[in-house]
Amino acid sequence: MIAFARTCDDIAATPAKTLKVERLADYIRSLGAEDLRAVVRFLAGRPLGAHDERKLAIGGRILTTAARRLWHPSDEELSAAYRATGDLGDALARIVRAPQMSSLFAETLTPADFATILDELAAAPGKAAGRRRELVCERVFRACRDPREVAYVAKILLGELRIGLREGLIVDAVALAFGEDSSAVRRAAMAAGDLGAVALAAAEKRLESLAITYGKPLGFMLATPVAFGSSYREIAGGEWLVEDKYDGIRAQAHVRAGRARLFSRTMRDISRAFPELIDALARNSDVILDGEIVARRDGVVLPFRYLQARLGRIDPPLELRTDVPVAFVAFDLLAVGDRFVLDEPLGSRRRLLAEHVSNTPALEIAPWAALEAEAAPGAIATLFAAARARGNEGLMLKRTDSPYAPGRRGKWWLKLKRELGTLDCVVIAVEWGHGKRRNVLSDYTFAVRRSADDAELLPIGKAYSGLTDVEIAELTPWFLAHRTGTPGSHALPVEPTIVVEIAFDIIQKSKLHRSGFALRFPRIVRLRHDKTAADINTLADVEHLYREMLEREGVHI
Ligand code: AMP
Repeated sequence: MIAFARTCDDIAATPAKTLKVERLADYIRSLGAEDLRAVVRFLAGRPLGAHDERKLAIGGRILTTAARRLWHPSDEELSAAYRATGDLGDALARIVRAPQMSSLFAETLTPADFATILDELAAAPGKAAGRRRELVCERVFRACRDPREVAYVAKILLGELRIGLREGLIVDAVALAFGEDSSAVRRAAMAAGDLGAVALAAAEKRLESLAITYGKPLGFMLATPVAFGSSYREIAGGEWLVEDKYDGIRAQAHVRAGRARLFSRTMRDISRAFPELIDALARNSDVILDGEIVARRDGVVLPFRYLQARLGRIDPPLELRTDVPVAFVAFDLLAVGDRFVLDEPLGSRRRLLAEHVSNTPALEIAPWAALEAEAAPGAIATLFAAARARGNEGLMLKRTDSPYAPGRRGKWWLKLKRELGTLDCVVIAVEWGHGKRRNVLSDYTFAVRRSADDAELLPIGKAYSGLTDVEIAELTPWFLAHRTGTPGSHALPVEPTIVVEIAFDIIQKSKLHRSGFALRFPRIVRLRHDKTAADINTLADVEHLYREMLEREGVHI
């Protein structure tokens, strides 16, 4: 990984895009097959390949623990390194001790080796205790021969390189390295979804084997969550359309020559579980559709738990099919006939969808409305209420000029779900932010109280966003002046005084935090200067919200 680290440092220090592409092309051209695949994945910020839904579950705490065990930095040293760099990988590179680095017997770590280790880690998600993950990270660090190698290994483990290489530049570099057209590489990337596999195919002169074809599922485009009732800054500029967010199973339909197949988000062929959908789809001309399978009786959406009864039931008996009727709601079109239209704007894909697919009870085109940016908050509230009244989960906002980006969770699709209510929590530890927030304490760990009469604070989550830059800048000196004890990791414990109101999508039981719960997509709604740590929510409040959520969502969490 030394060459990888050198190249990345070099690219980060090169502002001109053409030069970045040339340097990268030279490097990847020099790699063998397995290293090539791994390197391009790492560069794209995908330690595990694009279709891989598994998680590494490696965070700053695990990496710092591994680094402590290996190099024994003092807390001050670690904090100072972190503050100076604003990046955990770069900070760790500063605390590396020489003995481990110069060992004659150290094994060298190739990109392919590292990819294998990442795979092993992902194969045991959650189940592999934090301790085991720490040991694996320690082993990886020990195999590094150079501090910059440590920096990049850590960055890859954390899922972000930040060297100014957008996917477009990686595509250009692959094209340049192997004498292909950028557009051919881009098309293959859409089909394969995994740039590593595309680079390998380009090197082996078989890019055409990755063409988009009927019968081979493409990666699904994903959405970024946005808080309902926020100021919707995300939609400023651009034209947007609004659809209901259906609470079902995402599926891709391939219809070719009167035959239809359905693929799940994990690319499994699920056709046999939904024969009535296959019948309805097969009556259409050749198309690839993206949509959601929902359970619905007489036009009324049934809760997700009904649909669950049909999941994994191959060739369902008539009784079950009558009990839980299903429909495929199509909201995008990726191909029509021999024309693949992922590059075309959503607006025209939607037009093609309306032209080539007709509604039947089991196949419906998702209705949509245009959103006027100026009228957004009011219009969104009205549409949201209407979607909920129809039994749907919330709204999806999509930019009408956006292409279909397989496998990507970007800002072109936004999802809005109802919040469960909010929790008032107290900030107990803070961390330096990243990027433009690297010089402020912007990442907060927060806690609830054990109970009204027990003031013990139980951590429940960590949030990075929500406050304004001014609020964060004002709070930073306060936190610095109210640190308590020595830091246990790169998070600095602070006096529990600042109360924040936290919104979130889902509460889960979790061993991650001492409260026994974790919040998904937590975000800070506002500072509660009017409250003290004595007024925050308690564990009983969290349990209450959790039960409420279970009741509302059926078994779907
Ligand atoms: P996520 O998977 O977290 O990005 O959330 C988006 C999910 O919402 C998709 O995977 C779909 O299963 C689902 N969904 C429901 N309705 C829509 C819609 N109208 N457009 C796109 N995705 C939708």
